[in-house]
Amino acid sequence: MKFISTRGSGGAVDFAKAMKRAMASDGGLFVPEKLPVLDPKRAADSYWETALGVLRAFVPELEEAGLAGALHENYRAFPIPVVQTDAGTFLELFHGPTGAFKDVALTMLPRLEALTGGGETVYVTATSGDTGKAALEAFRNQPGTRIMVFYPEEGVSHLQKLQMQTQLGDNVSVVAIRGNFDDAQRGVKAILQEFSGQGVSSCNSINIARLLTQIPYYFEASRQLGQRDLSFLVPTGNFGDILAGWYAKAMGLPVKRLIAVTNDNRVLEEFLRTGRYDRRRPLVKTSSPSMDILVSSNVERLLFHCFGPQETRRFMDELRDQGFYQADPAAFRDFDAQSASEEEVQRAIRTVYEEAGYLMDPHTACAWAAWDQLGRPADHVILATASPFKFPAVIQEALTGQRQEEREALAYLSSLAPVHPALAGILERPVRFDRTIDPQEMREEFLRFMGGVR
Ligand SMILES: *Cc1c(COP(=O)(O)O)cnc(C)c1O
Repeated sequence: MKFISTRGSGGAVDFAKAMKRAMASDGGLFVPEKLPVLDPKRAADSYWETALGVLRAFVPELEEAGLAGALHENYRAFPIPVVQTDAGTFLELFHGPTGAFKDVALTMLPRLEALTGGGETVYVTATSGDTGKAALEAFRNQPGTRIMVFYPEEGVSHLQKLQMQTQLGDNVSVVAIRGNFDDAQRGVKAILQEFSGQGVSSCNSINIARLLTQIPYYFEASRQLGQRDLSFLVPTGNFGDILAGWYAKAMGLPVKRLIAVTNDNRVLEEFLRTGRYDRRRPLVKTSSPSMDILVSSNVERLLFHCFGPQETRRFMDELRDQGFYQADPAAFRDFDAQSASEEEVQRAIRTVYEEAGYLMDPHTACAWAAWDQLGRPADHVILATASPFKFPAVIQEALTGQRQEEREALAYLSSLAPVHPALAGILERPVRFDRTIDPQEMREEFLRFMGGVR
């Protein structure tokens, strides 16, 4: 199995190289040259076995016992349950070390790196809140690796910020930028392109290893629920999570509908409905910061699969130069799109707690609101992408009508449910990283981290 660039040049590389580079040399993203087809009924008794079947199909060159061992160890203490409640069915992806679904993929990255030969790698990563922490934790004190994370100063929740600022480890650095997530992501992509092939990679979902390790949980939902034809509601930001679902469908998983759900930043909803991608608008700050994005990286992969490399390059150039492009929406027939307003998010959190005693984080609540808008169809699975304990103030406000400080909100939430281990004691941990820079300074900051000017 080879991986090729969405923009057509740059040749074909194996998985190890695609993971090590994150971006192709022509500025595109790596995609599998073809999508393998699996028998959705093949036997698996647990998540790690499901994942083994999926990953083997993409990386057959990895020794099976080694990969099996890594998956078994990684997911042993990381349940991924489907939870059926009186108010919907949730695929809970947040029981990993940092309380975000990003853990599902990022905990595997160091293991995959070791299996593919290791070596020295510096990871540079932009985050809208959850990726940064999950990546820092996954690579903390991993021999041969270092990791630097940039986050928008005002674009993440208070606890998300604290989770990163208090990060432990000798090989990590965390820096805030005066800008939004799109600024951070642009800066990271520029660094990746400049240092392409020099041992610099990324933990963002532009890294194909992220996507491949997110495919198994769609199969897993189907396994736990008894193989029915399911639809999935996916809170969507950078379009990685839902693209993994689309890959699962292309690989033979019976999926009826894939519903991308946005918050008040509705670029993707518009795009999937009309084919017009238009980033020329203000970014709205919402209670679901991981979805506050105007330029979603993984749309480029969808474009490639639907239209091929020439068109993809043209669309990406148009997006950069004029701020929009128009594609044929007929190509996106596997997707539906919905959105949830801030008011709907608040109402969703309250309703689900009242009807089912179930607590949702604001991202999951967007997906639930979309499910409610659709008339609550029974065969739809809502992806629960973060622990509610990452957003206690939003939840307290939804449930009580009162907004309080993080400390009070966390205490309130802890009185309703057991606190997620990732957030226990968070307010007492010492801050290690509190630097803020301008986006133009990202390259310099990165060079310093790399150890001197080249
Ligand atoms: C990252 C994230 C999303 C969006 O996932 P994408 O793969 O970027 O579309 C949704 N919810 C939460 C909680 C996240 O951290």
